[in-house]
Amino acid sequence: MKPLPLSGQVTAVAGLPDEHDRVVLRLRAITERRGDVGIHDAALVQNMDDAAAAQAAGFQTACLIGNGVDLGNIFPQYIKLPGQFAYLGDGDIIGLHPHSRKLRVLYRRASSHNAFLVTERCNHYCLMCSQPPRDIDDGWILDEIAEALPLIDPTTRTIGFTGGEPLLEWRRFIALLDMTRTLLPDTSVHVLTNGRGFASPEVVSAWAAISHPQLCAGIPIYSAVDHVHDYVVQARDAFDETVLGILRLKDKGQRVEIRVVLHRITAPRLVETCTWIARNLPFVDHVALMGLENTGFALANQDLLWIDPIEYQQDLALGVSILSSAGLNVSVYNLPLCLLDRKIWTYAVQSISDWKNAYLPICDDCAVRDRCAGFFSTGRMRESRGLQAVAVHDGTAAVT
Ligand code: SF4
Repeated sequence: MKPLPLSGQVTAVAGLPDEHDRVVLRLRAITERRGDVGIHDAALVQNMDDAAAAQAAGFQTACLIGNGVDLGNIFPQYIKLPGQFAYLGDGDIIGLHPHSRKLRVLYRRASSHNAFLVTERCNHYCLMCSQPPRDIDDGWILDEIAEALPLIDPTTRTIGFTGGEPLLEWRRFIALLDMTRTLLPDTSVHVLTNGRGFASPEVVSAWAAISHPQLCAGIPIYSAVDHVHDYVVQARDAFDETVLGILRLKDKGQRVEIRVVLHRITAPRLVETCTWIARNLPFVDHVALMGLENTGFALANQDLLWIDPIEYQQDLALGVSILSSAGLNVSVYNLPLCLLDRKIWTYAVQSISDWKNAYLPICDDCAVRDRCAGFFSTGRMRESRGLQAVAVHDGTAAVT
């Protein structure tokens, strides 16, 4: 199981700006162009006929994926990508640092799982963080996203912003969200944040002023007990500020999703956590109860965190029932159907991003594979003892 490569290096680059600049390019199929070629557009070419057609269509930059022709004679500006990026297609967007040749895929038009990493910095240090924070100056990422946003297909249904903590530089980030609302008014926007920034009325007011009806903040609460939450995120007073932030967001009519990641520390307290959410935060818009991605810090801390999901199967079913009975919109993310109590199958979502979603050989014979979340291909997978293919009996799927 290998995730789709979203970063790497170009094998050749020519004619692009000097070593200190970064470049954002949108890849375009030549056949679909009708005089709308911009300076960020790079024609996808495979041979000299393509190159000639791209030049005639007005492209200044060409992109060749894999081995092929020498583009230098036709295009002074070109890049070559290794064959592992052959999945890229028309409308996809990449960020490039020509000097180092480093490449990152920023947006895939055909995907419904596009998320921009806003920063690697964070004021939490969560035990199971899949993107371990780094204290670096990466403000250039916000500039790169601002360059990419106008290139995104406006029919894109949803995009996400994640980190690190996106609200650390909240003024710049909110300006970016403002831009997103203007450029992509019909696109749902989901921001993963630890929510502490919203303890500030100034931040909440700026967020509300974006006035995006489909803007949602996904905020984790790992326990109903303040010091347990603070321990999981490795930050004192985090629980109090996070809850205050949620209350302030809802006071301003903003959309909020609560996220609970399940592991050895949080899962045994899940019923208590769900009861607390149902009693104290029944007005949030969505609660996601989530299986653990065993990568990053989760991998480093796996002796502390790993729990076989089959062990919390009944508590998860009860937690879902508590939230749903209180009128909350609840979903189960990242967990295979065969590890869930049948009663909560309707709450299970195929939530794992397409670029890192995988299945096991056992799944080939499973009747519910097409609606099962499957597994993360990142990090190191831990297999549950409860995994088993589901068979169909009398027209209904049943665990064999
Ligand atoms: S066996 Fe079926 S239910 Fe279990 S993980 Fe595979 S596809 Fe999902």
